[in-house]
Parts: sequence; structure tokens; C-alpha cells
Amino acid sequence: MGPKPSKHIEYDRNDIKTQGYISITTKEKEKKKYFRLSHKSLKYSDGQNIPSKNKAFFDKNFKIRLENPDEAILVLEVKNIRGQIQQWQLKFETNDEYISWVSLIKKAKRPIWEDPIENLACKQCNVDFSVSNRQHHCRKCGKVYCYLHSSNKIAIPELEYNTPVRVCDNCFKDS
Ligand SMILES: [Zn+2]
Ligand SMILES: [Zn+2]
Repeated sequence: MGPKPSKHIEYDRNDIKTQGYISITTKEKEKKKYFRLSHKSLKYSDGQNIPSKNKAFFDKNFKIRLENPDEAILVLEVKNIRGQIQQWQLKFETNDEYISWVSLIKKAKRPIWEDPIENLACKQCNVDFSVSNRQHHCRKCGKVYCYLHSSNKIAIPELEYNTPVRVCDNCFKDS
């Protein structure tokens, strides 16, 4: 009997979704733009019914450079659709908006979990998975490991994991 495909998805990525007006400062000019966030990208346009003209994907180039909850300001470094690295300084109208957007941006930055069906052995010790030796996903890198090599738990605030969650030994060492 092969390994049991486990569908332990912690949250639905499609729930990572919001939109609304935010003030953005790029090249020292502040403008109000209409932003749309999904689990794949953050994009903006001049208005709700206008197609987006700038877009950044949640990949390794997407970085949070500054979090300022007191002023409701978030500074992002992104690679835009033209391949340029840009700084987006976002100023939210209210503290509640700041908190909810920052939380969703951090969740969108979480890695996509490896497919359990395609990954049949632990990344570290190469042991085959089975019903008695189940797969576990590292919350930080999204890769699958055996229980032994994913037994540490830490909080990962940059991915909006504010209570301890399972991580692999490599990510634990780096933390
Ligand atoms: Zn292992
Ligand atoms: Zn890991």
C-alpha cells in the first residue's frame, strides 16, 4: 500500500483576497490608487473599474521593508510587471485597514505546500512515507518531511504565524 495522500491544507488560499483604495508614494509622489490583493499578486489601478497598470507577484522579490503600525504605513520592495525593483510606500486610512492588509500580505507570502503525491520521501533522510510514517509540511518552506525532521515548532510572524507552527530542521536552524 502506497502513502496516503493527505489533504491537510491549513487554509484556503482563495480566501486571501481584498481590495480598496490606498495612498501610495512612488518617486516622491503620493496618489490614491485602487488595490487588489489575491494569493498570487498585489496590483493597482486608478479606480475600481479600471484595469490594473502595476502589479507585483508574491515571489522571492516581494519584501516588506518597513512596518509602521502607529502611522499605518507599510513599505514594500517589489518587482513590478516591467521587471523593475520598486519601493511602494502604502499609507492606510485607518489602523484597522493597515492591520487587515498587512495580515493578508503576510499570508500571501506563505509558501505553496508541496504536493504530497509527488513527494514520497523525506527531504532530509529519504525515508519513504507510509500510513504509519506520515508526511508533514514545513510551514516556512512548504516542503514535506518525516515527523522526526519536522518536530520543531516556532512562530513565524513574517508569514503571519503568530503562534508556534511546525518547521523542518533546516528552517529551524535558520530561525
Ligand atoms: Zn526525515
Ligand atoms: Zn522548512
